[in-house]
Order: sequence, then structure tokens, then C-alpha cells
Amino acid sequence: MGLAAVFGYVLVRSVKLEIQRKEELQRITEQLAIANDNLRKLDNAKSEFISIASHQLRTPLTAIKGFISLLLEGSYGKVNKDHRQVLNKVFLSNERLINLVEDLLNLSRIESGRMQYEFEKVSLENSCKEIYDTFTMRAKEKKLKLKLTLPEEKLPLADIDKKKIREVISNVIDNAIKYTDKGEVEISPYQRESFVGVKVRDTGIGIPQEEMSFLFQKFSRGKDVARLNAGGMGLGLHVGRSMMEDMGGRIWVESPGADQGSTFFIEMPVERKK
Ligand code: ADP
Repeated sequence: MGLAAVFGYVLVRSVKLEIQRKEELQRITEQLAIANDNLRKLDNAKSEFISIASHQLRTPLTAIKGFISLLLEGSYGKVNKDHRQVLNKVFLSNERLINLVEDLLNLSRIESGRMQYEFEKVSLENSCKEIYDTFTMRAKEKKLKLKLTLPEEKLPLADIDKKKIREVISNVIDNAIKYTDKGEVEISPYQRESFVGVKVRDTGIGIPQEEMSFLFQKFSRGKDVARLNAGGMGLGLHVGRSMMEDMGGRIWVESPGADQGSTFFIEMPVERKK
């Protein structure tokens, strides 16, 4: 009889404890859900802020670009050599700002899942030629040799978003020039089995092994960049990798180490998996 009472007491007590524990767990879960909701709201507000700020910055920058182009073309009268040099510098700085703003806009599109792609058949050789032309002036300013090495045989067309792949390749070439003080930057479109790609090799500051994967994270920059006094937000590679993966391709870097140059590969399938 006594044993049954003790057993009953223990049973009731453990059931009570179990109920208390469940109630506690439920309370914590509710608190976590509220905190999570608040964080999501904050994160959305941050993304929205980046998006609005970038849109507002883009319009005047595009206007500046238009007017400098008109000045350089001589639409407001003949421009002498000295003025042309200064205007070219303003043009290049403005281009950098436009690219930075574009990276911020891309980041907010990626984070809110609003990035859209328009696939078409693209000739990587043609894209590389056009991009090469836009960088010759910058390379010349830094006294770097910029080379475009085309494959002997014509490449198959890539099934990709033309504007986005141009952005990814341009950022990698921009970096190659930015992080190289002397020597050369070589751009070579290639084919490897059922993939086409672009290889960008430079003789610049290189990348230490421990920084390889971390550089593709958002807002991350190598420790050696400060020494070059090279501006940047550490967004280009992050945005580039996200876009390449969305488009069924990939981007990676190889480097023997600090001060030994880097080679970036941007690769995509000829036929996209539907
Ligand atoms: P940003 O150039 O604005 O810093 P990126 O995301 O394009 O941002 O690059 C991230 C970092 O990767 C750079 O800060 C630099 O440390 C490293 N990096 C990129 N390209 C090169 C390169 N060609 N040579 C050496 N380091 C590079």
C-alpha cells in the first residue's frame, strides 16, 4: 500500500515536472520566434536602405558619365590635351563609383531573392574583346601590359546572361589591374570539355592560401590590399560567385601565394541544365 502511494507520488511529480518543462520550452520558442521576426524586419530594413540609397546614387552618377562623355567628344568645344587627361581621370573615378553602387544593388537583389537572369547564347570571345577595350586605358595608366589571348578554334556559345557575365568578367579584370603593380594581365577565353570559360592571370600581389575561400565572402578583403592603397568594398567576388552559381557556372582562384600573381577562372556550361 505504502509502496503504491510512493509510486503514485513520484509519478504525479514527474508528470508535473514534464508539464512545467514543456511550458518553459514553449515560452522560449515563442520568445525566439519574436526575436527572429524582429531580426528579419531589421534585415529587410537594411536591405531596403541599401537598395534605396544605391538607386538614388546611380541616377546622378549616370548623368555625370553622360556629360563627361559629351565633353570628351568635343560637344562643348575643343578639349585640349591637359583637360582631356583630367577628364579621363574623372571619367574613370566615376566608373568606379558606378561599379561600387552596382555591387551594392546586386547585393540587395541577391539577399532579397530578386536577382533575375535572362539567358541567351553568348560568344565569350566577343564579350572579352569588348571588355578588353574598356580596360586598355586603365592598364596603360598603370603601365601594365594587358593581353587578350584568343583560342585557335572558335569557342561554342555559352548559355548565360550576357550583362551579368560581363559584370563578373569585368570585376575580375578590374581586380587584376588593381592588385598588380608591375607586369601583365592576360585574359584568355577557353574551352574545357563541355564548359567554356575565361581565365584572367596577373602578376600581382597574389593570394595567400589561408585567404582563398574567405575572399568570396561578402565585405571581405585580403590583408595585403592596404599596402597597395587600392579602394574597394570586398563585394565583387561575393556577388560574382553568387551570380555564377545561380547561372549554373562557377568562379574560383588559384595562386601560388603572396606576391606570386593570381589566376581567376570563370567557367560555365555550354548547355545549361534546365
Ligand atoms: P574588392 O576588390 O572591392 O576588395 P572583391 O570582392 O572584388 O572586392 O575582392 C575581394 C578581395 O580579393 C580583394 O580585396 C583582394 O584582397 C582579393 N583579390 C581579388 N582579386 C585579386 C587579385 N587579382 N590579386 C590579388 N588579390 C585579389
